[in-house]
Amino acid sequence: MWHGRPRPVSNQEQGCVRKQPSSPHYTPVDLRVQRHRQWVPHFSRVLCARSGDFRPVILVRERSTRRRTHPPPNPARSPNIPASECQQCAKRSCHIQEDDAGASLRYALNSPSTETEPGSPRNRRDLLKAIPLTAAATALPQTPQRRSKIVVTGGHPGDPEYACGGTIARLTSAGHDVVLLYLNNGEWETPAATRIAEAKKACEILKARPLYADQKNGHAIVDNDHYQSFQKLLATENPDAVITHWPIDNHPDHRAIANLTYEAWKQLKRRFALYYFEVSDGEDTVQFPAPTHYVDITPVADTKKAACYAHASQTPDFYYPLQDTVATFRGLQAGTKEAEGFILQIDSPSEFDLSVAISGGQAK
Ligand SMILES: [Zn+2]
Repeated sequence: MWHGRPRPVSNQEQGCVRKQPSSPHYTPVDLRVQRHRQWVPHFSRVLCARSGDFRPVILVRERSTRRRTHPPPNPARSPNIPASECQQCAKRSCHIQEDDAGASLRYALNSPSTETEPGSPRNRRDLLKAIPLTAAATALPQTPQRRSKIVVTGGHPGDPEYACGGTIARLTSAGHDVVLLYLNNGEWETPAATRIAEAKKACEILKARPLYADQKNGHAIVDNDHYQSFQKLLATENPDAVITHWPIDNHPDHRAIANLTYEAWKQLKRRFALYYFEVSDGEDTVQFPAPTHYVDITPVADTKKAACYAHASQTPDFYYPLQDTVATFRGLQAGTKEAEGFILQIDSPSEFDLSVAISGGQAK
């Protein structure tokens, strides 16, 4: 029966011996054994499908000795490596792959512990044993990190912190710029000054910046004027991604800002990625579906808790355990202790990926 997945190809069909990766979460690495092949270690990174983190690995690529023999050296492609340093043929820098990791590979091969007689054969095991993992980690090509702007919109001060304070902490620690955009200042039984001061303290803990849409708590207005003013606010921030309330929610202010955010996203030609969060499930968010993205917040759980408790006037002893239960449940689903789950809006641009952003990089 067809289940939508490609049929696995056996090792025999591939004509190779496949070594299973040490972790099932990493991209498998083919280690093929054939005659007339040379083994070339290659420093690279793999993306963990579960955590979204990049990890250093040593890959071993095969290279046919029949296919490619001593082309003229190309100094422009390896300006720092003299051609005579090639340890495999002692003639030219032709054997070793000329990619980003090529220079690192050559340095490793030229270290005293890996010296061999010119022309002597190397096998895959010898090469791997000769190169320490620490060398691989330090020799990794550094991916340029682009600083992204993420706006998290919430109905009230505290909503973004409770819903995704862990993700915010991870984004800011990865160097991204995060703005918490509140629909109102939260003034109700608690004075506005107190709520604003609490939000300021929470944002300082998360290294984010507070911003207000200047509506009134409990009296959210969604009309053409407010659509346009909210759109201008987001256009000014020019974010790469916006995270907002799941639109089915028991609080009208939460529904309102989800609505305003969606309209702005649509009017701004869907130029930023749009994600939805869940907050105080059952009390506020309802019918939140299975997340499309999970963020492991275990390392920053204490930071999130401190940001939530910064809103001391909002009974954190009641709301924090509720949200912590949600984080534990999402952690069970994601295979971590605690996680936050998100829904990615269809038709969001692919330039921003939350999983990549929290690991410190930005895709594409
Ligand atoms: Zn709220």
